Amino acid sequence: MSLLVVGSVAFDSVKTPFGEVDEVLGGSATYFSTAASYFTNVSIVAVVGTDFPDKHLLFLKSRRIDIEGIEKKEGRTFRWKGEYGYELNEARTLDTQLNVFQAFKPKLPEKYKDKKVVFLANIDPDLQREVLQQVKEPALVACDTMNFWIGGKKGPLLETLKLVDILLINDGEARELSGEPNLVKAANIILSYGPKTLIIKRGEYGALMFSGKKVFAAPAYPLESVFDPTGAGDCFAGGFMGYLANTMNFQEANIRKAIIFGSVMASYNVEAFSLDRIKSLDYSEIEDRYMEFKKLTHFDDLG
Ligand code: AMP
Repeated sequence: MSLLVVGSVAFDSVKTPFGEVDEVLGGSATYFSTAASYFTNVSIVAVVGTDFPDKHLLFLKSRRIDIEGIEKKEGRTFRWKGEYGYELNEARTLDTQLNVFQAFKPKLPEKYKDKKVVFLANIDPDLQREVLQQVKEPALVACDTMNFWIGGKKGPLLETLKLVDILLINDGEARELSGEPNLVKAANIILSYGPKTLIIKRGEYGALMFSGKKVFAAPAYPLESVFDPTGAGDCFAGGFMGYLANTMNFQEANIRKAIIFGSVMASYNVEAFSLDRIKSLDYSEIEDRYMEFKKLTHFDDLG
């Protein structure tokens, strides 16, 4: 089954202790769809400016991503600038320019309206809802967000959360959204906003899933070289949703497998700047790392 995503398609300028890049291809929908494209067909809804080069669109097409829903509008493409310190876990946003996203009124191509699996990647929560409302009968809706929207558009974000099945956010965002420092308490508060399942991404410490009273913990892959964490969360979501859309099984046991596929895609992404590592993976590399995760967390029963 194919997957629909709305999110940012961007130019990113990023500085980490290991290097610096200027105006490279980025954006939540870009990372998400590239990661998900290893599992299923993906269709993007987004807007870019007239400064957006065709080579980036051709790259997305080369991953068999449907870009009919990417509008090109007069003006500048979304831009994000961030930097990371040595611990690499949290980006410090230096600049966000919404540009063409500011006046974006998404109008879904007819063939997008029948999509069953929808991901509302990190973007204005009002836009997330505008897209979701045009999908006729979604079977699974998941969503991401960030401090920029939690701080600036909390009301609209809470409206979006009423409509989603799964929310994926990082630990700092979970604390900010709930106003609660303890993550378990924060999870319970957030689940009361609407989502049935909450996945909290914790960078190099892995991910936690909360669903009703159930909790599942996945580690992050212990990597020797991490160059750029930008897009790790979106790649996690891409692997996670791509696998769920591929299998169309939303039971807890399958959600656990999806979390590992998400962790695999995030771990590959951070090995290089921009999409350099995940743009041309071999599916066998994904399977190999999935099995590494299994070995990493296996232990025997008592006695
Ligand atoms: P991640 O590192 O997975 O949280 O996502 C990083 C990506 O999110 C970058 O490629 C940015 O272009 C994009 N991004 C940053 N801020 C925003 C924002 N306020 N809205 C939408 N996308 C954003």
